Amino acid sequence: MTIEIRNIEKRFGKFAAVNDVSLKVERGELVALLGPSGSGKTTLLRVIAGLEFPDAGQVLFDGEDAGDRDVARRRVGFVFQHYALFRHMTVFENVAFGLRVMSRAKRPPENVIAEKVTSLLRLVQLEPMAARYPSQLSGGQRQRIALARALAIEPRVLLLDEPFGALDAKVRKELRRWLRGLHDEMGFTSLFVTHDQEEALELADRVVVMNQGKIEQIGTPQEVYDTPATPFVYEFLGNVNRVACTIVNGRVNLWGSDFAVEVAESGQREGFAYLRPHDIELGGEGARAHAQVRHVSSTGPIARVELAFDGLATPIEAELSRQRLEQLALRPGQQVPVLARSARIFAAGAGV
Ligand code: ATP
Repeated sequence: MTIEIRNIEKRFGKFAAVNDVSLKVERGELVALLGPSGSGKTTLLRVIAGLEFPDAGQVLFDGEDAGDRDVARRRVGFVFQHYALFRHMTVFENVAFGLRVMSRAKRPPENVIAEKVTSLLRLVQLEPMAARYPSQLSGGQRQRIALARALAIEPRVLLLDEPFGALDAKVRKELRRWLRGLHDEMGFTSLFVTHDQEEALELADRVVVMNQGKIEQIGTPQEVYDTPATPFVYEFLGNVNRVACTIVNGRVNLWGSDFAVEVAESGQREGFAYLRPHDIELGGEGARAHAQVRHVSSTGPIARVELAFDGLATPIEAELSRQRLEQLALRPGQQVPVLARSARIFAAGAGV
């Protein structure tokens, strides 16, 4: 099933939590809504779910306007970060809940419910825990039960709001892989909210980066990481250095290397160069600029070097392999040749 949202706007008083947002999620896709706190991710998800009514715009499921269908008829499964399971019900009864509350005409017979719940518990690998109560499960197990409960109604769309937010890093990672496998196997369309860039980049087919109620960029994880459309996306996804520069006839000279602005104009104006730490080469022969090593941190396979440039107030961070660091034998206080391999230039005022 496809999900399409057209020009959705949702206001709380005068404040636009979601401001003219359009997006299409293809059948079977797993899409992440990624953005900082307050950027409107949850509100957008709730509008899609039918839990919140938009002030303007449309939500279409498989091309059909979903606006006049109530929540139950949308066949949407939810999993929220603190989606409390019913404490007084066993795991089995929690998963069966969505089926038991169906109208009489639709409710499956008891033996079908039992079969279905058992197969869902098998799917989330918790079949032996059917008789337990939620308090007797770990956080990760509870989230898997919440997912089984959402799947019981055979949703056409699965919406997840920070589903693993409350869990520790290791369990999060495991559940992430497991969810990806389940999504691929079951073939539903999923949309999940996260503020964790690693989670979005690792799990999603496409990432929607949100900021202040608007979409900044939509793309595959590689597209949004490698070619951020805006300074905001650059700064939000991964580490980046921002260096003030002067744009002359659409070009910038940064540490002796020449870079072009995407939309060039003649004349001179101020701008900013954005460089990822791994796009800075240290100790190369062709380098024409030098910086002073301030600090070296070398835990793990990637080493980070903090550099001070004359005339630059903020330090620049470069990343290199441990091996390369050992070759260069960098020490604080030393001068090192620096080359920018790649940089993106934005004119001042274009969101910077
Ligand atoms: P987080 O990651 O912190 O959950 P989010 O990106 O999901 O953030 P939303 O929960 O969608 O953001 O909130 C977007 C904005 O709308 C916030 O500024 C929030 O305070 C506001 N907001 C959300 N719900 C309401 C409400 N019911 N009444 C008033 N303002 C609201």
